[in-house]
Amino acid sequence: MTSNKKPVGLVPLGKVPEIVLKVMADHITRCFKLATQILPPLGQPEYALDEKRLQYNAGIIIETFESMLFSDHHKIIAVLNQDLFIPIFTHVFGEARQGGTCGLVSLFRLAKNPDGSSPSGSLIHERATKVALHELGHLFNLLHCEHKLCLMHFSGSIEELDEMSLHLCEYCSIYLQDKLG
Ligand SMILES: [Zn+2]
Ligand SMILES: [Zn+2]
Repeated sequence: MTSNKKPVGLVPLGKVPEIVLKVMADHITRCFKLATQILPPLGQPEYALDEKRLQYNAGIIIETFESMLFSDHHKIIAVLNQDLFIPIFTHVFGEARQGGTCGLVSLFRLAKNPDGSSPSGSLIHERATKVALHELGHLFNLLHCEHKLCLMHFSGSIEELDEMSLHLCEYCSIYLQDKLG
């Protein structure tokens, strides 16, 4: 079995609604043409809690996951409810290393609109799915894209995330196909 034939594993860290994982899995198959598998939950990454910021250090969680053996899976997307940061940003919706094996998605900031109102469940799922697909793109070495609708456009705010579509632009699609061989 070549690595491309192995599924992308989706791992909840702590309690994550199963529907979110299912919507993500569905879109990964549609957009990346890859099989997916939802894995049993792992514990919350308390080892990555920064006591001063009261947020979780995304880099530490990724390092931990990338040192674990997921030999049955091509790439891993871990999903959690905790707020994530990387040192140069106040927060991130998700994080992944270019060409890495594990990406992270945080649901923490997705359940509130910029005006303080509450989004529908389906909008929260859509936001989480966009973050998951974006981070998976990085795991396949896709870089940020200037096309505002493209999944690989950088989004630092909910507004930007909502503006983005659930698709890769033509350029990024071709690049991904090339990477997936
Ligand atoms: Zn990015
Ligand atoms: Zn693009």
